[in-house]
Amino acid sequence: MTSSFPASFPESTVLGYPRIGPDRELKRALEAFWEGRSDRAALERTARRLREDTWRRLAELGLGGLPSNTFSYYDHVLDTAVLLGAVPERYRNDDDLAAYFAMARGADGLPPLRMTKWFDTNYHYIVPEIGPDTVFSLDAAKPLSEVREARALGLETRPVLVGPVTFLLLSQAAPGSPDGFAPLDRLDDVVEVYGRLLGALAAEGVGWVQLDEPALVADRTPAELAAVEAAYGRLGGLAERPALLVATYFGSLGEALPVLARTPVEAVALDLVRGTTDDVGLLAGKTVVAGVVPGRDVWRTDRDRALATLHAVRERAGRVVAGTSCSLLHVPYDVERETGLDPALRDRLAFAEQKVAEVVALAALLAEGAGTDAPRLPAPQAQPSASGAEIPHEGRAPYSVRAAAQAERLKLPLLPVTTIGSFPQTGELRRARAALAAGEIGEEAYESLVRAEIEHVIAVQERLGLDVLVHGEPERNDMVQYFAEHLDGFAVTRHGWVQSYGSRCTRPPILHGDVRRPEPITVRWARYAQSLTSRPVKGMLTGPVTIVAWSFVRDDLPLRDVVFQVADAVREEVRDLEEAGIGVVQVDEPALRELLPLRRDGQAAYLEWAVAAYRRATSGAGDHTQIHTHLCYSDADQILAAIDALDADVTSVESARSRGRVLAEVGGFGRGLGPGVYDIHSPRVPGADEVERLLEEALRAVPADRLWVNPDCGLKTRSHEQVEAALANVTEAAARLRERL
Ligand code: GLN
Ligand code: ZN
Repeated sequence: MTSSFPASFPESTVLGYPRIGPDRELKRALEAFWEGRSDRAALERTARRLREDTWRRLAELGLGGLPSNTFSYYDHVLDTAVLLGAVPERYRNDDDLAAYFAMARGADGLPPLRMTKWFDTNYHYIVPEIGPDTVFSLDAAKPLSEVREARALGLETRPVLVGPVTFLLLSQAAPGSPDGFAPLDRLDDVVEVYGRLLGALAAEGVGWVQLDEPALVADRTPAELAAVEAAYGRLGGLAERPALLVATYFGSLGEALPVLARTPVEAVALDLVRGTTDDVGLLAGKTVVAGVVPGRDVWRTDRDRALATLHAVRERAGRVVAGTSCSLLHVPYDVERETGLDPALRDRLAFAEQKVAEVVALAALLAEGAGTDAPRLPAPQAQPSASGAEIPHEGRAPYSVRAAAQAERLKLPLLPVTTIGSFPQTGELRRARAALAAGEIGEEAYESLVRAEIEHVIAVQERLGLDVLVHGEPERNDMVQYFAEHLDGFAVTRHGWVQSYGSRCTRPPILHGDVRRPEPITVRWARYAQSLTSRPVKGMLTGPVTIVAWSFVRDDLPLRDVVFQVADAVREEVRDLEEAGIGVVQVDEPALRELLPLRRDGQAAYLEWAVAAYRRATSGAGDHTQIHTHLCYSDADQILAAIDALDADVTSVESARSRGRVLAEVGGFGRGLGPGVYDIHSPRVPGADEVERLLEEALRAVPADRLWVNPDCGLKTRSHEQVEAALANVTEAAARLRERL
């Protein structure tokens, strides 16, 4: 073999690392490039510096196995599609970067590819389109150049790629594919390209490659498992290849473990935070990268437990490597920068840098033989059990009763037009918020700016003729962080950014104690907005599941109990909004789908308590108060019944990117429904004709007296100009249709 294979795997590694930059350098570079404020060379310089800084830092921290190809301009699944030549015809362009960003964000007249959540995380990937006729071809430029860049620094790396089975399982059938076609049908062709890629990497002298197969921790059919065995049998049988690490994470492998064990891959990475060491013995003879440092939470690792797990793996499987349970993409860079946090809390925290140090320290302890006298089998992680009491399904009066009371009170026209809540966040507001945090301006000055923004947003909506107005959420940095800042039991970070999609990041709050609402949070802003208009203003809250899903959560209480604490706080807020005269309250629950357990076993119980929590949060509202909910990118098919069970008077869902499906699925809800008619993820402004056609289509699935007209999601990432142009077209389309009804 050309490479140093079979070199043994280093003692320690991480499965991936954040790439947005400690100060979101990549975000800024991307946005400057997209807006034409900088050129490709500048973007490439920033990207290269970020990659180099990461490798240098990981090496400084003493990490053994350095990953490469974990950088991405937008998304690693999209990168894999490009690597395989799977760029749909309509996006092809001589300018490769233009084609790439067109798939990710859309281009003139060209909507982007669909985007959805990466397993049960809040990271979003671009869904590749694979058809029977997709022509695959190898474009190995990116992984090869990253290997060379690291070498220029004197560092050897292990390229990380999405594995062929997960890639195809996450893809969707290209439009026009025959019925019954599934992307996985193309596995042979895709594996052939991976084979050539492995050949190219071996020729480059690469010793190890990591193929990520997180899809294997979900329930898989026998045919899918057979596909895994065939794919890795074939790749493992290649004469010219690096050693292979198949990385699995976000759960345990279950029945996929013996399947992988039978393949000739040299190493398997296991998530031993969510999974167990039970079947590790089957991997004897292979290297096991033991994911003992959690890649998805921010708590310091229990060293003794982790060490005991490492020993257990070594005893059963033989060669063990200390690693993270998944890529560190899902945690912020460095807790040391959080000087504003209570030191007692900070001492309990580990972000990416600290987790790398933990992995390195564990590897050293293991090598020294430390911990061998510890109990042989790690005690199973105290799985806190939910508090016993059965959850009452709280309910309101029947929908017909509520609908009548609300119609009487709100007097809305047919096809009422509304938005999902946020309006564009201006630079001025963001700067003011930063200045307020830095103590450069006072509360007074900041609040008068917020009030001015509310006045503006209300005036715009009145002028454009919307029916249910919003205050625009100008006071909110983020729909979860804002509530976290106003609830006891949460801490927020200053630099704790985590990539959500492309250039977008969030700063998940840290839920570390009991949650309580010391005082009303949103009421005065809603009241102020309502004082400016005679049309109904919709109060805007984030639901309990979403607040918890988008936070880093304490691990000493069952998730369910934590969610119920938050539900009680939201319930108090709904009541106070109602008392302040707000007639419509939206409680967003876009993360309902996200926390769904990856395996079917466990899903029903989760949905049961998640719905109960939502109803607890909203069922205190009187009949005449209209409760809205909103879900985005909800692959609604799996949780349809649960969405229905939320019992909201009006449900808005994203649908611009998969309209037919959404309508078929949720059209039958017996209450109000707003399938989005404006894709807010793209700068594109939809025309009135286009919106009218979408509404006509919706009217075939939803009766006119229950159809709402709204964008797909909040407008905060768009510009005021785009939003006003788009909403003008939306209201015009609704008006035209009303005339014809
Ligand atoms: N009300 C929120 C907004 O408009 C909803 C955002 C979301 O669903 N992600 O920004
Ligand atoms: Zn949304």
